[in-house]
Amino acid sequence: MSPINLAIVGVGKIVRDQHLPSIANNSDFKLIATASRHGTVDGIPAFTSIEAMLDAVPGIDAVSLCMPPQYRYEAAYKALEAGKHVFLEKPPGATLSEVADLEALAKAKGVSLFASWHSRYAPAVEAAKAFLAGTTIKSAHVIWKEDVRHWHPNQEWIWQAGGLGVFDPGINALSIVTHILPPLFLTGAVLEFPENRDSPIAADLQFKSGQGLPVHAEFDWRQTGKQSWDIVAETEAGQMVLSEGGSKLSVNGALTFTAPEAEYPSLYRRFAEIVKAGTSDVDLAPLRHVADAFMLGKRKFVEAFHD
Ligand code: NAP
Repeated sequence: MSPINLAIVGVGKIVRDQHLPSIANNSDFKLIATASRHGTVDGIPAFTSIEAMLDAVPGIDAVSLCMPPQYRYEAAYKALEAGKHVFLEKPPGATLSEVADLEALAKAKGVSLFASWHSRYAPAVEAAKAFLAGTTIKSAHVIWKEDVRHWHPNQEWIWQAGGLGVFDPGINALSIVTHILPPLFLTGAVLEFPENRDSPIAADLQFKSGQGLPVHAEFDWRQTGKQSWDIVAETEAGQMVLSEGGSKLSVNGALTFTAPEAEYPSLYRRFAEIVKAGTSDVDLAPLRHVADAFMLGKRKFVEAFHD
């Protein structure tokens, strides 16, 4: 089969770090164009808007949209309208309704829409899911604490409405939680907003399942020193720790599973799979929890944040 001719829109940090190497190593895809106001990729025809790119390069089959979520819907709409398959970076959009709209459009046009959740493809996530499926879970605690100055230097969009603030990394934890734990719903939340910003710097979330399983999540962007991306579950088979963003699984203190990181290569394998199968993969559960936190959460204003 000939490769899927791919274009990338929004050439920035995640494209350079992850998309380009993953595409280069996947024979199912051939990168044939980019659209970005400033960013370009060496040797690939570059355009400054998606409209100009779609007009000039009719052979594009699929488009990866990698700009910040607030600016993704318009581009996704244009690509789907033009009959292209679409890969959405996480989070898939700025609102639930706009992504539902895109899902309906993809169906109407007979093309594939992929709402990607890279952390679900972290090496030890499936092993954690299998471990939890074989026992009774008593409680779970999610600790996602990192230093925003280190990971997001000069990124203004994350602090603007729709940029999600600390939920930009926190939604990665939620994408794992919604994959390995039973269905949950939010029962209470406290969101901390820097007094000079429109999105939160920290969030404390309480969830439960219909059967009463308690789950507590703490997201914080003010963590210096050791960074924490851990999910701890107390179970009848002992304590399970899924650590380092889903990379390592330990049970009762003993490492039981780890493997090399390959999140984005796995995402592109999945995208090729759904394109070939003529299906879509759009799970909004992680974004729904974030929306619930904004809906139910108490707001606290904290010290102003300056880069
Ligand atoms: P970024 O570098 O700040 O933005 C990506 C590109 O989007 C920018 O280089 C810019 O390209 C374009 N862009 C920025 N603002 C725009 C606007 N107002 N309108 C249209 N285009 C705009 O961000 P990133 O870190 O790559 O993150 C992008 C997405 O990937 C986010 O949803 C993020 O959650 C996700 N992600 C990021 C990481 C990470 O480590 N950074 C990891 C996983 C997922 P031009 O100026 O050339 O248009």
